[in-house]
Amino acid sequence: MRASGNMRDRQDAQDRRDAASSISSLPPLPPAELDPFRAPGESRDLAYVSIHNHSCYSILDSCCSIDALIERAVDDGMTALGLVDHDSLSGAVQFVQGCARAGIRPIVGAELTLEDKAGRPDQLVVLCENNEGYRNLCRLLTRETHEFRPLPSWKLVERSAGLIALSGCGEGRFGRLLLEGRSAEAIDLARYWQTVFGRENFYAELFPAPSAIIDRVALAAGDASVPLLASANVHFENDDHRHRYEVLSSIRTLTLLREPNLAKRELGWGGAFQTQQEADRLFGHWPESLASSLHIADRCHLEVFEPLMATA
Ligand SMILES: [Zn+2]
Repeated sequence: MRASGNMRDRQDAQDRRDAASSISSLPPLPPAELDPFRAPGESRDLAYVSIHNHSCYSILDSCCSIDALIERAVDDGMTALGLVDHDSLSGAVQFVQGCARAGIRPIVGAELTLEDKAGRPDQLVVLCENNEGYRNLCRLLTRETHEFRPLPSWKLVERSAGLIALSGCGEGRFGRLLLEGRSAEAIDLARYWQTVFGRENFYAELFPAPSAIIDRVALAAGDASVPLLASANVHFENDDHRHRYEVLSSIRTLTLLREPNLAKRELGWGGAFQTQQEADRLFGHWPESLASSLHIADRCHLEVFEPLMATA
């Protein structure tokens, strides 16, 4: 997520502090062998790719280089990787070429800042399924955002073809409504995006959060008949880099570094890159959410980048 830094946003962030800070009380994940949902001796094939990742092209909102993201994915045996920087495709060429060299499939998209009825910035992730989606996203990020900032959602309605949409983290409107206990409105919103993008083209993101929040997202997605997607909302490589992210967040939001839970509050749930094993332990109760990441990776193919990949 991105914070504008103005007073209203800061107050909003302050209001959410109690909810967000509770992530610090999350118990450490149990060892996989203690997973009560896993039969004794049962091994589960790991099958997850990380799609919601921010690179340093999400200015002051990520301390991951593109190469570092690719390296984490390759080291973990992932077959694909996504890049969804804030309102930007600036890293796309470097990302596609890096993925080609590493032998993994690139999933190109962006996290859009949308106009919210309440006057607060809203966020929605879109992925390019094909060339038409890429063209539409380029148009949305150039001419349209030049005229409209933030982007009104009706612009997305005009240019939704070829795009797959994800609900985003706890700072996306879908997640925010659920965090505020407004499940009926969240379900209506999910159905609205389904009509805009198509029934198969909108996913509700499960993000790293206390289990009660994850349950709430899964329940609402079920009620709206929206498929789930396991997601990490990655802003830094691993927990050793959390402090770097906190420094960036302080600069971006003009907030004192010593303010508690800064990074957690600003992240809207998310943070470090998740391995397949970590994702399985967190979201394994919803195996379809892990499978969705592979399904999306299979669907996304941009012919426009083929020459780049061939010469990488
Ligand atoms: Zn994000």
